[in-house]
This record gives sequence, structure tokens and C-alpha cells, in this order.
Amino acid sequence: MAKYEPTALVINCGSSSVKFAVLDPKDGHVFLSGIGEALNLPEAEISWKFGDGQKQKASLDGGDHAKALDFLVKNILSQDTELEESIVSCGHRIVQGGDIYTEPTLVDDEVEANIAKVIPFAPLHNPAHLLGIRAARKSFPKIPHVVVFDTAFHMTMPPKAYRYAIPEEYFTDLHLRKYGAHGTSHMYISQEGAKMLGKPLEQTNIITCHLGNGASVSAVKGGKCLDTSMGLTPLDGLIMGTRTGSIDASVVFFLCDRLKKTPEEVKEIFNKKSGLLALSGVSSDMRPICEGYEKGDERCTLALESFAYRLAKFIASYYIPLGHVDAIVFAGGIGENSWEARKLTLDLLKEPFGIEYDEEVNKKALGRLNFCGEISTPASKVKVFMIPTNEELVIARSAMKFVK
Ligand code: ADP
Repeated sequence: MAKYEPTALVINCGSSSVKFAVLDPKDGHVFLSGIGEALNLPEAEISWKFGDGQKQKASLDGGDHAKALDFLVKNILSQDTELEESIVSCGHRIVQGGDIYTEPTLVDDEVEANIAKVIPFAPLHNPAHLLGIRAARKSFPKIPHVVVFDTAFHMTMPPKAYRYAIPEEYFTDLHLRKYGAHGTSHMYISQEGAKMLGKPLEQTNIITCHLGNGASVSAVKGGKCLDTSMGLTPLDGLIMGTRTGSIDASVVFFLCDRLKKTPEEVKEIFNKKSGLLALSGVSSDMRPICEGYEKGDERCTLALESFAYRLAKFIASYYIPLGHVDAIVFAGGIGENSWEARKLTLDLLKEPFGIEYDEEVNKKALGRLNFCGEISTPASKVKVFMIPTNEELVIARSAMKFVK
């Protein structure tokens, strides 16, 4: 009997990294996971582990995405040829599919060209995705390659949610509109949320909060996205690790006029030097900020309170497209682990929306290894869940749909 059922390879390329995983698309069991990091730099290296085994690593000698994937085939999968042979499909995470793609799509030359077309909306991510697709098609030539777009889930938003109030030609000619991000995660946690509600997905109204280094919140009705906090790019919406989230555009004019910053410099400040990092003065990482908050540090408290205040305001605003709300779901590194971020957010929603939660259960809901599930009490008008997200599983399942 074969050691493995058919598996899927999932690839997620960043500008200087490539994450990979081989998993069982049925139950999500991960047989192999790893990451090639610092690509194109002298210190480029690759690390991996089989299942729960020991982590191994090796130098890539300044190699790029192609070298990392070549190493995956020749040096890692070669250690378990049965696993290699079980891979029947490859799914690629793509940050931006523009308004072209609403579904996972089989890669061909036209798809590659379209991903290249929308590079201006994801200048760091889409070029890296293309490198990954091209290298993976060479390394794994016999299996289907499928792209799964972070933006696809948000394509069901109505124009009143995705249009900007700017002259028409910027929309028609330049495609400037809200695209959203983290769609794969919002889709997964809304589907899991429906299961926890014990209702068919079509009958659910759920607010999904994906809170990682990048963070976004979506209004999902019947499994379809009606609105989301990210905009043209992942700079909009919530306060993030190093990103501003929503901000008056006049701040840009002010910095350019008064401080003679260039638009490129402002982009760098807004993307890399703002958010939790700027407010706390400590870190972009929520862990030390929560520690500072516990100790009464003023700036950490401001950072955490601002994060929760902005999130609660977005959640409140999504009562408008949804009408009523069945559940709020927290996911992502912060949503799954920071009980403080959840507490401060839920405390703001308590009075206006009748949300009640169990303080002790909320403190225990820490990551997928510990408790995950319902945080709200039976008296709550809205259920509150912590559900670990699993984008790899969605991508693996999407990739399997193209296996003949
Ligand atoms: P990414 O968007 O890079 O995938 P993650 O989903 O891994 O990010 O989330 C990273 C965020 O999760 C960081 O801000 C990190 O501090 C936060 N985080 C992880 N564990 C904890 C924890 N125990 N308490 C508070 N925050 C945490």
C-alpha cells in the first residue's frame, strides 16, 4: 500500500523568501514544511522539517527562488521519494489578481502575463510570485500549477463598497479601486465559523478578523464578501505592525510640502515605519507591546488601545452591509494569540452590540495547540470565535481541483 495518499505542494513566494509545504488536502496533515530565506543575499539559507521531525537547514550560497526550489527537489524531497511521487498538484499563493481573477486558476502563459500586468498594485509580491511559478513549473513539470489569489474572495463586493469617490477615468482606465487582501484566510475562517454556528454557510452573517503583521477585517454574508478593510493595496484599514492603515491623504501632501519628502519616501514611512512600531516606539511585534501594556507602559498602551479601537470601529461599521451579525471570528498571529487585543476590542463592542465573552476562556484561547473555539457566553447576542486560519489547506484543496 502506498505510504501517502495524493498530496499537494503549496508555494508562497515573498520578495526574498519562499515558503513551501507538502500536505494532505483532505485533513491538512503537513508532511513537509520549510522556507528559503534571505534569497539573493550571501546568507541565503533553506530550512525544513518532515512532519514534526527535527528542523534541518542548509546554505543556498546566495541563491534565488529557483535555486531554493531546485534544492527542494534534489536535496529535500529526494530524502523521501515516496512523498515526492505523491505530489500531484502545486498551488501558488498570489497576493494580487486585479479584477481579472475570481477563482483559483490553472497557470498558463496568459495567466503569468496577467499576474505581471497587476504588478503596480503589488510591486513587492507579484514579481516574486512570478519567479516562484516559473521556477516551480521547471522543477515540477508534470503536475498542474494552480494560482490562488488573495484578492479573489473580495471580488463579490458591490461597487458602493469597492469604488473610490475619485474621477471615473481613474477607475475605468487605471482600475483604481478597493481589492482587499488575505481573501483566502477570510474565506476559510468564515466557512469554519459557519460550521461552529451549526448553520449552512448561505445563512450566516460573519465578521472575519485576520490579524497578523498585516491585518484586515471583512463583512461576509452567506460566504460572500460584502466589504473589507484593505484597499487598493494592503496599506489601508486597520493599524498594522509597520503600516498606517487608513489615514487622511492630506498627511501625504503635508509631508511632501513641508518636509520635502518624495512620494516614494512617504510610501516607505507609511509601509515600514508606521503602525504599532511608530505608536509603541518599541516594536512592530504585538508580543512586546502586550508585555509593555501589562506593565503600564504608556506608549504600548496607546498602541494596543489604538489597534483595538480601530478594529472595533471597523467591526461596528460592518453591521451596515450585514444587517445583523451571527459571529465575529478572530484569526492570524494576533487574533489567535493575543487575548489582550481581543479583550480590548470586545470590551468596546460590549455595550453597543450586546457582546458578552468569558474572560477566562478568552485568556486560554492561545494558538491552535491550546484552546480554540467559542469565547462568547450564551448570553451574548453575537458569537465570538477564535479560529486558527489555514491558508495552506485552502490552497492545497484548490490545487487538487485541477488533478485529472
Ligand atoms: P504574518 O502576517 O506575517 O503571517 P502572523 O499571522 O504570524 O503574521 O502574526 C504575527 C503577529 O502575531 C505579530 O504581531 C506577533 O507579535 C503576533 N503574535 C504571535 N504570538 C503572539 C502572542 N503570544 N501574543 C501576542 N501576539 C502574538
